[in-house]
Amino acid sequence: MPSRWKSDRPPALAAFVGRFPDDRACADYLCRKRWPEGFVCPACGGLKGWELGAKRFTWECAACGRQTSVTAGTVMHRSKVPLRLWFLAAHLMATHSNGISALQMQAQLGLGSYKTAWLLCHKLRRAMVDPDREPLAGVVEVDETSIPFRTKDDPVDGGAGRSHVGKLLVAGAVELMEDGRAGRIRLAVIEDYGAMTLTEFVTRAVERGATVVSDGWSGYSSLKEHTHEAKVIGSMAAHVLLPWIHRVFANLKRWGTGVLHGFRKAHLDRYLQEFVFRWNRRRHTRVAFDSLLGIAVTLPHACYRDFVDQRA
Ligand SMILES: [Zn+2]
Repeated sequence: MPSRWKSDRPPALAAFVGRFPDDRACADYLCRKRWPEGFVCPACGGLKGWELGAKRFTWECAACGRQTSVTAGTVMHRSKVPLRLWFLAAHLMATHSNGISALQMQAQLGLGSYKTAWLLCHKLRRAMVDPDREPLAGVVEVDETSIPFRTKDDPVDGGAGRSHVGKLLVAGAVELMEDGRAGRIRLAVIEDYGAMTLTEFVTRAVERGATVVSDGWSGYSSLKEHTHEAKVIGSMAAHVLLPWIHRVFANLKRWGTGVLHGFRKAHLDRYLQEFVFRWNRRRHTRVAFDSLLGIAVTLPHACYRDFVDQRA
């Protein structure tokens, strides 16, 4: 692996473009990811094969004749967009801490069509939900918040406290690392602040046996499979008792107003997953890059802790 990526920091754009100047360089990267020890036929396991001259970036097995494209199984498969542009798009999306809009993508890639840029962004974003992701563990702060959503005509009609008229409800959880930093997060759109809803959220997001720290809201009192530590709010403000989940919510809302110009109800869940993806990989740009392109479909479980232990 080139030394500039060893630290897993985002390489500068110029360095990135220098590393992947053309489709050939991208295909070589895919090849190394797919066959780190050399070609292996997915059909018969044969180790002998060659790259076809007539078919771009496709290998043929010497034993069974099966042809395998280096893009098979990735988001780039059968796409008319050049690999170089896919790589650049994934790099931009992985390194922009605030995300990137389809319009910005179009300009950055020099694409003639907005539709192509939009489709590209959409396909990359689909990789942002990892179905096999591990639940949060250890000590986990949980809380809920409400987010005003954008409509064409209606003014935002937010009620006070836990009332949620005219707002979108979101539950959140964040892992507390032993050194005091935040680990991974989870966010989900919820229907209400009831015990059933919140218990369901915690059950899905947090490993059994983990310690859940909340503000003492009764919605968390029926947790059975987790150790519940209620920090009841008296004179202390919520952001002091649960600093990390409040920082997550604050960042989420700032992103919503600053970059997205208001959350839309229909897309909220997708936005939340995008935010979670970016947060959970904020120190691991190369991992983000690979997963956006669908290259690193399965990460060994141990990897996550290894990554978190790296200093940003
Ligand atoms: Zn074969």
